[in-house]
Amino acid sequence: MEERRPYWNMEMETKQNTPEMKEIQWERLKKKVQTLYDTAPFWKERFDKAGAQPATIKSWDDYAKRIPVLTKEGFREFAAGCDFDMVKILEGWMGEASKELLCIASTSGTTGEPTPYPLDKADLALWSEFTARALWRCGIFPGDRIMQAFGLSMFLAGVPICMCIADYGACSIPVGAEAGTERVLTYSRLFKPKAMMCTPSFAEYMSEKAKEIIGAGVDSLNIESIVCGGEPGAGIPEVRKKIEGAFNAKLFDMGAGLGCSCDYPEYQGMHWLGDDLAMMELVNQDTHEPVPMEDGATGMAVFSTLAGTNILGFRQTLGDIMEVTTSPCPCGQTGFRYKVIGRTDDMLKIKGVMIYPPAVEGVINRFVPRVMGEFRIVLDEPPPRVVPPLKLKIEYGENTKEEELEALTEEISEEMHRRIKLRPKITWLPPKTLERFVKKKKLLEKAYESE
Ligand SMILES: [Zn+2]
Repeated sequence: MEERRPYWNMEMETKQNTPEMKEIQWERLKKKVQTLYDTAPFWKERFDKAGAQPATIKSWDDYAKRIPVLTKEGFREFAAGCDFDMVKILEGWMGEASKELLCIASTSGTTGEPTPYPLDKADLALWSEFTARALWRCGIFPGDRIMQAFGLSMFLAGVPICMCIADYGACSIPVGAEAGTERVLTYSRLFKPKAMMCTPSFAEYMSEKAKEIIGAGVDSLNIESIVCGGEPGAGIPEVRKKIEGAFNAKLFDMGAGLGCSCDYPEYQGMHWLGDDLAMMELVNQDTHEPVPMEDGATGMAVFSTLAGTNILGFRQTLGDIMEVTTSPCPCGQTGFRYKVIGRTDDMLKIKGVMIYPPAVEGVINRFVPRVMGEFRIVLDEPPPRVVPPLKLKIEYGENTKEEELEALTEEISEEMHRRIKLRPKITWLPPKTLERFVKKKKLLEKAYESE
């Protein structure tokens, strides 16, 4: 077999995290401030208001101090000022380039107006370059077939990724999550993809349903790599074990920025793959003060587009709280690593302590197969405040007997107290009673909305 080079882009990926890369970033950043100021009305007004005209940005310090962080609320305000007219929004966002778009994707809009991801030629090139770097690292190469089972409708990981896969020279099989489990499973059997892209909860659901639908386990599909994204599950050790075991495949975690996990047996977070394409920083979620990118640092992730037109915005955040690791990864590949700890939207405060749903999920999944792994956090009032105890509905495992539940309640409660300092109130549900999601998993049940 031919020896493959370690990276798709040997020139840029080898320079990640080096002083030379910092210079490349600085040159691109200065140019980006100038271009946005000259061409995009929203950004010109924003920079003017903050006293951050291009001439005033002379150092990294100026950049961090002068250019304000654009939050979801900030974006919403801008969108409201455009009467939520998406055409006006895009004109403000990217000026004339908004007339040369090739594709538009957006956030799901479940918590308000959707934030658009407009892709012109330069943005699509950025996204293609990132996709190529990620697929290469996941052992998926030009010529391979990829089952595309993310949501195709408006998802950045949907149709745009299919365009990028074509650019890379691989073949997507765009069935999409909307088509449902039966079609994804059936078409996987027919078209024999080497890899699959989907949310981790969809992969789990497929493994639960395969026997019934195609008469054999998902391991019979011979899928070698599963690239997950859209939710944090692929980074949770127990969820990984479950999916990798069921498919007999390697599981990779991709997204929430330009990153992808490596194939080191233990999850190491996602490697950032695009220092030259876009920049990620951490800031304090309340004060927006920069948080130094050091081992173990946590903060709200902020992105600035460097290479494309403006797909990731400029000093913009979607509210993801992340932890970074800057020391070298045991896998030997370049790029600092990051883990998504939670989202500012999903944050819960229990007796003043911040808790993110994935932390609860992590503990519950330690008890698989005694539990199914499916659960909901039941909220009696709008978050973030939760009056203790935190209420959980958990599905017990298929071979768990009802008389075992009391002891299991005690064990889970102990483990949760030990790991995340809370003692929940657990209501048990029979296996497979909670709704499964093929796109994004919903962990919060808003009981206060149905009253
Ligand atoms: Zn690694």
